[in-house]
Amino acid sequence: MAGLVAAVRARELGIDAVVYEKGTRPGGSMLLSSGVVWRHCRWEDFRQECPTGDERLQRLVWERLDDALGWLRSLGAPVVADETENPLTTGMRFDTRGLTDSLVAQVGTLRLGTAAPLGGDGPLVLATGGFGASPELVDRYVQPAAPLRLRASPWSTGDGLEHALAQGAALSAGTAEFYGRNMPDTPWTEAEFVPAAQLYARHARMFDEHGVEFFRGEDVSWSETNVVQATARRPGARAYYLLTEEALAEPAVAERMGAALAPGELPFAAPPGTAAAVPVVASITHTIGGLRVDEHARVLRADGTTVDGLFAAGVDVGGVAAGGYASGLAQALVLGLVAAESIAG
Ligand SMILES: Cc1cc2nc3c(=O)[nH]c(=O)nc-3n(C[C@H](O)[C@H](O)[C@H](O)COP(=O)(O)OP(=O)(O)OC[C@H]3O[C@@H](n4cnc5c(N)ncnc54)[C@H](O)[C@@H]3O)c2cc1C
Repeated sequence: MAGLVAAVRARELGIDAVVYEKGTRPGGSMLLSSGVVWRHCRWEDFRQECPTGDERLQRLVWERLDDALGWLRSLGAPVVADETENPLTTGMRFDTRGLTDSLVAQVGTLRLGTAAPLGGDGPLVLATGGFGASPELVDRYVQPAAPLRLRASPWSTGDGLEHALAQGAALSAGTAEFYGRNMPDTPWTEAEFVPAAQLYARHARMFDEHGVEFFRGEDVSWSETNVVQATARRPGARAYYLLTEEALAEPAVAERMGAALAPGELPFAAPPGTAAAVPVVASITHTIGGLRVDEHARVLRADGTTVDGLFAAGVDVGGVAAGGYASGLAQALVLGLVAAESIAG
């Protein structure tokens, strides 16, 4: 998303931009997403939710998002809902196919199926969607106990990160963190990324395959990112959600629960009161750590100097949501705009 946004904004500002898209279709993970572009209502909540994030970048996204949403809407991107259905957050839900089409229509030149040529003349905006699709980079930085299943588009293999690091760029905070979901421990397809997410951990007790309870419902954050990250660090990056009869009656559980086992089928003795157990695996949607940039989206070295002509946007930028979770789409939208405006300025 960030690359398309940057190119559309650059064109508005009179700059010719070419979007290189490595994949066979535009839109990246945005196209597969729920399309909710959001921020916390209260700045204090954002800081509390993502306490180790870069405050300047958080402020930038938080302050610019509402205008940025207006800009996106003005392009004709179809809004499905004017709110997020979460009282802690504000934003809009877009139809992601329509959003992709409206950006692509105004982007100028789009080269599909072509990885960006790196190291050419002129400014370059890295917007490759992080490194969640690279098992090697995930292993190096996130260090899960076992490879994480991918719940995102397959082309975000860290090309932006590796290019910038080779230019002397610095890493952000939060390189071991990621946003993802616990998913059923069964095969699933792109179409099931959203509906199959096991998003009811607050009603469950979490055990690993050795029978160790590693997380309890009351410790689950509202985004459930903390339980997914904890699952990634258990043997096999998998777990069992143990549910009581009372939990099974919860609508959030009933609507989403994957194939369940009877307590007697577990590889350990279930605690009394267990009525069912759902095997889950940790999946990665995108990385939270990445490149360090300034508030003009310029890629930074460790000494605070900028790498000449190199910008980053979207989740190639790290550290915005470190310590918690914030909207990747908001980060892509605002930083895409900022990168284009910096180049124009
Ligand atoms: C199922 C699902 C639900 C989600 N729901 C939400 C939600 O409701 N709200 C929210 O805020 N976030 C959501 N997200 C996350 C959101 O989609 C991402 O945070 C967002 O798309 C990141 O934007 P981006 O531009 O950085 O990456 P992307 O949108 O993934 O775009 C990166 C693009 O770069 C391309 N690329 C990679 N390498 C190269 C290369 N070398 N050369 C050229 N192109 C390259 C990729 O193919 C891709 O098209 C969801 C994601 C998924 C998968």
